[in-house]
Amino acid sequence: MSLRQAVILAGGKGTRLKERLGDLPKPLIDVAGTPLLERQIHLLKRYGYQNILILVNHKAEKIEQFCQQNANWGLTITCIDDGEPRGTAGAVLNILPELEDEFLVVYGDTMLEVDLNRFVAAHAAHTDGAGTLFLHPNDHPHDSDLVDMDENGRITSFYPYPHPAETYLPNLVNAALYILRREALKAWVAKAPEGIFDFGKNLFPSLLEEGQKLYGYNSFEYIKDCGTPTRLDKITRDLTSGKIQRSSLACKQPTVFIDRDGTLNKEVDHLKTASQLELFEGVEEALRKLNQSEYRACIITNQPVIARGECSPAELRNIHNKLETLLGHKGAFIDRIYVCPHHPDKGFNGEVPELKIDCNCRKPNIGLIQQAEQDLNADLAKSWFIGDTTSDIETARRAGIRSILVQTGYAGRDGKYQATPDFTVENFAKAVELILEQAV
Ligand SMILES: [Zn+2]
Repeated sequence: MSLRQAVILAGGKGTRLKERLGDLPKPLIDVAGTPLLERQIHLLKRYGYQNILILVNHKAEKIEQFCQQNANWGLTITCIDDGEPRGTAGAVLNILPELEDEFLVVYGDTMLEVDLNRFVAAHAAHTDGAGTLFLHPNDHPHDSDLVDMDENGRITSFYPYPHPAETYLPNLVNAALYILRREALKAWVAKAPEGIFDFGKNLFPSLLEEGQKLYGYNSFEYIKDCGTPTRLDKITRDLTSGKIQRSSLACKQPTVFIDRDGTLNKEVDHLKTASQLELFEGVEEALRKLNQSEYRACIITNQPVIARGECSPAELRNIHNKLETLLGHKGAFIDRIYVCPHHPDKGFNGEVPELKIDCNCRKPNIGLIQQAEQDLNADLAKSWFIGDTTSDIETARRAGIRSILVQTGYAGRDGKYQATPDFTVENFAKAVELILEQAV
């Protein structure tokens, strides 16, 4: 499936960028020599989008002129001045008759580099949804609006900031990039209230309330808004260094695969509840450094407690939400968590029979690494594995990945496999230090 139509929401005033904008509207802000809007149009063109609707408002004539000067880059581009600001969803509902069955929505103040083919493919896998939202972890989830989704990628809740007390939430933030189905929004043309009506705050929660389905697409690819001089400078640096281009899933991603128990958090012999989860000292800071580099951080963990019926999938989610919450408080995050829920030995009380199997994802099998190779375009030749057991080191050996044994948890004394690690260090923080000292 491919999409050919995109809507760019380009009505922003850019008040906080005034000194940089001069007389220009916000979407025309210069980013390393090219206006942001032009960068977005180049990306869309590269992925085959032929028809672009730009919803303009503030200094609309400047944006129209700019498109004309560039002969619309050879595309069909229509600027629509929608008069009164109606919010992000309100603006799209206003032009719904102009839209195709499925369309992409881009916010005009974001610098983005996304493999749009992969995003569209993820969306196409769910034909029963009103749309698919691009989600990502960020380094300040505690004061962000968060989204929760189930194992099938279906969005279950929106948690606007401030969050409910005593609840662990996943680090998933709406990144302001959507694929939407026109049919699902039709009724809202009449239903939307007067005034400002936004996607994140109003329309999406309302769609869930009325029982419509929304899906999430979790990706680490670069999407950041350029709303302040500080952010704009950061984006310009990332663009100049090539970091933004390399973050696309179209490029291979150096990845650090990380074991969970005994490596990030204290080994308690089959962790079953969130209350048992305690991070080792220095884990958050080390992970934050990894996040700031160009490595992806990916947990690979065996959790036979699920097959044994000792921990429910819901409690496992809660454990990971606590992990993400603790990390998030210190500005760190995990790009993806892969779990093997299986266990081969049958005969335990309360076990889940269908999970009592010989699978190819239980370490030292490499099924989960192969999954990450597909999902994250992980570059195994430039990747690492950090773990505390011989099983972790054997996994790395089988996958052809460099390995680091940490002397926390089992410290390699589980005695199951003969594999020799490439390096042995004191703890996770030292492992990250070692990785970052080597060239990617
Ligand atoms: Zn498995």
